Amino acid sequence: MAAGNQWIDFSRFHSRLRVTGRLRTETALRIGSGGSDSPTEHDLPVVKDLRGRPYIPGSSVKGVLRAHLERLLRGLDERLACLSTSRPAKAGVLTGCLTQGDVDALKAAHQNDPDELARQILKRSCWTCSLFGAPWLASKVMIRDLPVIEETWFERYLIRDGVAIDRDTETAGNQLKYDFEAVPAGTEFTFEMVVENPSEAELGLALLGLREFEQGHIALGGASSRGLGQVCLELDWDRSEWLTAGQLKAYFAGQPPQALADESVRTGYWKAFLAALENGKETAEHA
Ligand SMILES: [Zn+2]
Repeated sequence: MAAGNQWIDFSRFHSRLRVTGRLRTETALRIGSGGSDSPTEHDLPVVKDLRGRPYIPGSSVKGVLRAHLERLLRGLDERLACLSTSRPAKAGVLTGCLTQGDVDALKAAHQNDPDELARQILKRSCWTCSLFGAPWLASKVMIRDLPVIEETWFERYLIRDGVAIDRDTETAGNQLKYDFEAVPAGTEFTFEMVVENPSEAELGLALLGLREFEQGHIALGGASSRGLGQVCLELDWDRSEWLTAGQLKAYFAGQPPQALADESVRTGYWKAFLAALENGKETAEHA
């Protein structure tokens, strides 16, 4: 069992958002073929299934979404930077996030009080860790693997040529030229994301991230400097499902969850996030 599951937060249902849509490639999307010797292979967001059709692992979309939000928050205020990843924060800046070392110290200090340990980890984690998880924290966001939409897939990959960049020297080596495959522009994938038990502010942050995707500000894959990996997400808000604990009885009786169809409702959650930035994380209420 993951450490985060011990939290009071996760022990009961508070709320759940489910939203679906279509992710369309605006430019070619480079694919990881598995057999390539490119050193950047593991950055590639698309892979092939057993039948040779492309699909996008949900984990890679989630990773890109998280990195994008973290970059925005860091731009807003360096103290909002995340420490759970390998990138260090600027020297001398006190950030609102935990390193593995901090977590080890907390575990030693609260070894007989798991509830207090969970509270401390929750309180001191940054916004992106709270929403997307950390090695010591369960994620509230789940993105399913994105299968290709059959009627947009014509069983043709593009072949492009590329030059592998040496990660250490950041130069192109002599022998590192290679061909790679790409999914053509106009290919569409089915998108589905679930957010469980977010605070109002965390829901706002998740919705802000989705809006960035909807507006085409987030690219997939490492080759975006060559114009690859531009995507557009079209979400079906009319069919989204927002279910809270108070509605469970009606839900069990067969009533469908409400949709977050009204944009002003979604904007309200962004505002809750901005207010929580002002007022501090601990004041955030469950959505
Ligand atoms: Zn963090």
